[in-house]
Amino acid sequence: MKTNKTVLVTGGTGFVAIHTMLQLLQQGYTVKTTIRSLNKKEELEKALRTSGIESFENLSIYEADLLYDIGWSEAAKGCDYVLHVASPFVTQEPKDEKELIIPAREGSLRVLRASRDAGVKRVVLTSSFAAIGYSTNTPGHVFTEEDWTDPNVPLMAYIKSKTVAEKAAWDFMAREGGAMELSVINPVGIFGPILGGISSASLDGVIKSIIGGLVTSSPSFTFGVVDVRDVADIHIMAMEHPQAAGQRFLAASEGVMSFYDVAELIRKERPEYAGKIASFPNTDQNFYITLSTQKAKDILDWKPRSKEEAILASVDSMMN
Ligand code: NAP
Repeated sequence: MKTNKTVLVTGGTGFVAIHTMLQLLQQGYTVKTTIRSLNKKEELEKALRTSGIESFENLSIYEADLLYDIGWSEAAKGCDYVLHVASPFVTQEPKDEKELIIPAREGSLRVLRASRDAGVKRVVLTSSFAAIGYSTNTPGHVFTEEDWTDPNVPLMAYIKSKTVAEKAAWDFMAREGGAMELSVINPVGIFGPILGGISSASLDGVIKSIIGGLVTSSPSFTFGVVDVRDVADIHIMAMEHPQAAGQRFLAASEGVMSFYDVAELIRKERPEYAGKIASFPNTDQNFYITLSTQKAKDILDWKPRSKEEAILASVDSMMN
């Protein structure tokens, strides 16, 4: 099942990127990837090997950092598509928001520029619900792709970095994108299985903390959940589907969860891993989000797994 298409996935050492590369390789694409340091090449190959990829002849790895120009043109050369997944994702608030905003924004522009100059057909940018859902708190509001977070009010650095980077990408396309197309994926919290030890802040901040007994109360908000395998899938769909050009797609499973819901789910479905989970009551949520992923379903026929399956897959891969 070999295709003659070549795809660059940025940030090959990341949780979303490794799953996306795995699906692309399984589907017969030729894959290029960038990593910040070639020292991490073995870690990346090991993760793919544990998932059944035995030959790396369809994978090439380049060194490129979002903060510098070097490496991006070589990586984008000869590519039909670019999936720009890399962006700093941390749970701790940095001392200076620029630590996240500069690589997110300038990095996206570097990738878009290199892609346009290399004649890439379409870039799919991994944005986030962060760029959609942090400026509206009208009760009953259903978030869709029409919503935007306002970056000009005080925000956590990560939320601002994703909003500013996505806005900059659309502005670039309007101004100087040429014939290249852009699609954007806006996932909620991404969970699902870890491949070869490549985890992410979403798993460490929620699942690991709950199982390890570090969470002793349920913060008063809910969050959306989506499985990383479905996030990889929607990137590939948005890359190929003619009607995805110029569109953003909210990516989430049905419903939302609180820390309490996650703890209860693990206690019920995986009691063998629940020994250290702290006992804490449910909290009234003052940020109970409702969102619609109808657009991804209608245009792409995207069918995500349930939030419970995503959470339990994280737990199983973390504990085994
Ligand atoms: P991750 O595992 O932390 O991946 C982030 C990737 O970005 C890593 O490969 C990292 O490289 C790379 N990166 C960071 N700074 C860089 C720089 N200056 N130059 C080059 N590469 C850099 O997190 P993830 O969950 O896979 O996130 C992937 C994308 O999904 C990000 O755009 C994130 O904002 C978005 N997203 C994630 C979630 C979630 O819940 N996980 C939700 C919505 C959106 P190193 O390995 O070298 O650090």
